[in-house]
Amino acid sequence: MAEKVKALTKKQLDVLKQKLMEEKTSLVFNDQVNASNIELARPEGSDEVEQSITDYTNSHLLRFRNREVFYAKKIDKALKKFDMNEYGHCTDCGDWIRFERLLARPTADLCIVCKEDSERDESSSFSGRQSKSLGKVVDLTGLMA
Ligand SMILES: [Zn+2]
Repeated sequence: MAEKVKALTKKQLDVLKQKLMEEKTSLVFNDQVNASNIELARPEGSDEVEQSITDYTNSHLLRFRNREVFYAKKIDKALKKFDMNEYGHCTDCGDWIRFERLLARPTADLCIVCKEDSERDESSSFSGRQSKSLGKVVDLTGLMA
């Protein structure tokens, strides 16, 4: 039996909330920079090679931006949990998530034990999808009962 994770102190929670807000501020700033880069990255009369480099850069920037938008949503979700006094709890088992883990990843919503479990689930459902794509249909209904 693993040792019970201690509840986060008010001070630790404050540190994490501060961190989330700082990360969000830096994301909004980056978002503006990316948007202006994308506009600037299409010079008039560029040749085809230049154009494909530009396209590559643009799609690269867009991908980067999408990831930031996704992360910004996670930050919002985490900040909302502060309002509901749910922050720091694993959404799966309800235990506290370790402070060290949250410090490294303030948007984490699973404790390390549940995170490892869900990664195992993901890899097993991935192999399920793979065998389906090879033409073998796996019937899971019997296993779900
Ligand atoms: Zn958990």
